[in-house]
Amino acid sequence: MARHAEEIIALLHAENGKPRPDAALELLLTLEHIAWTAEHARTVLRPTKRTPGMLTRNFSAQVERLPFGVVGVIGPWNYPLYTPNGSIATALAAGNTVVFKPSEYTPLVARWYTDAFARANPDAPKGVVALVTGAGATGSALCNAGVDKIAFTGSTATGRKVMACCAEHLVPVTLELGGKDAAIVAADADIPAAAEAIAFGAMGNAGQTCVGIERVYVERPVREQFLAELTTALRRVHPGVSYGPMTMPGQIEIVRRHVEDAITAGADTALGGLDSIGSRYINPIVLVDPPHSSAAIQEETFGPTVTVTTVDSVDEAVHLTNDVSYGLAGAVFSRHHALDIARRLDVGQISTNSVLGFAAIAALPLGGRGESGFGRIHGPEGLHEFTRTRAIATQRFAIPGVHLLSFRRPDWLNQLLPRLITWLHGR
Ligand code: NDP
Repeated sequence: MARHAEEIIALLHAENGKPRPDAALELLLTLEHIAWTAEHARTVLRPTKRTPGMLTRNFSAQVERLPFGVVGVIGPWNYPLYTPNGSIATALAAGNTVVFKPSEYTPLVARWYTDAFARANPDAPKGVVALVTGAGATGSALCNAGVDKIAFTGSTATGRKVMACCAEHLVPVTLELGGKDAAIVAADADIPAAAEAIAFGAMGNAGQTCVGIERVYVERPVREQFLAELTTALRRVHPGVSYGPMTMPGQIEIVRRHVEDAITAGADTALGGLDSIGSRYINPIVLVDPPHSSAAIQEETFGPTVTVTTVDSVDEAVHLTNDVSYGLAGAVFSRHHALDIARRLDVGQISTNSVLGFAAIAALPLGGRGESGFGRIHGPEGLHEFTRTRAIATQRFAIPGVHLLSFRRPDWLNQLLPRLITWLHGR
């Protein structure tokens, strides 16, 4: 993939619409994850010894990790390389084979990726990584095809359907779903740096990033400075150069509904508005203080918009951040309390004094809670996600006369058992 980088960068640009530098960044991060997984899988997944308890001192114990078998990977279009790779590379490194169903919007990137695997691994048996293309019905067929595990990345609505299907067959499933990620800007933050980072976190990839910043909570004393810095940063951002068009036409209507709803409900705009929404490109939109109940706060927008809500304290910011049904990721900007604030956020991953840092660190797990799904990809936790355990207890020697796990248990031992309960656990 690295040797043929120009090919895949051009294809990502042509098929998804993102600018070439963003496509290059996506490839680079994909390769970081493949390299980390290749380097660490053997160590992370090797059998581990466990220490038996008092009653089983005559045993040794170990846990092995086994692949599930065939993993069905269903992926989205927004990061058509990086996102499915998080499941595919990990599943392969854990010893599984993969059937990959990409989004119908990005099948050529998927074809290039699976061909690249075949080119790089000429000795691998055919079908170690297989591709099936088609729309939602193909994804549904994959869930029903008798695979041993499904790793799904996509919207919460489709995730529900996938899980229902997997429940029918008792197939384990990992769900990486949508988000409504917030950034908290505390009064002691470096405001210009926070504004610059949030501008990218919110508008990068035209806002079509599951872990993109969609909401900001800023403490009142720094509100005006933050808004001024944010709008200055965003005036340098131009669709068609800084980010691409909206990949799916339907998404434009969702953005319009959220902006319209917020303005009708009393939000101000610090930048842009309904007339920023074109037929393919959307200019950055900053909505100020929309009501907490509005769609722009509660639902995933997936466009180049961000809400900025003024709060009177960090406590209020934390409360509002956690008071949505999603729980994917977040960001905290504070010189002195960033880690303390981060630990109060009910999400799977957080960057402090930056955005999206966790997605670039291959050793970190990624995943959500609530309507953002469950299970983890990336890092050691991701490798564990694509294996099942096999525990083996080996009796090293029999203790003469002590048949604890037998019908031949002697009377003296039966009488001792209640006392053992007290000695071992009742004090
Ligand atoms: P969708 O849910 O629309 O589609 C995801 C995949 O599921 C596509 O391949 C789609 O096929 C397929 N699919 C559709 N219907 C079914 C079905 N009934 N059974 C099985 N598969 C089906 O999501 P998007 O492609 O629009 O992706 C955007 C979403 O993904 C956003 O919500 C975003 O937040 C989320 N996402 C989450 C990430 C995370 O790590 N948490 C990372 C990246 C994105 P087709 O497209 O061909 O119809």
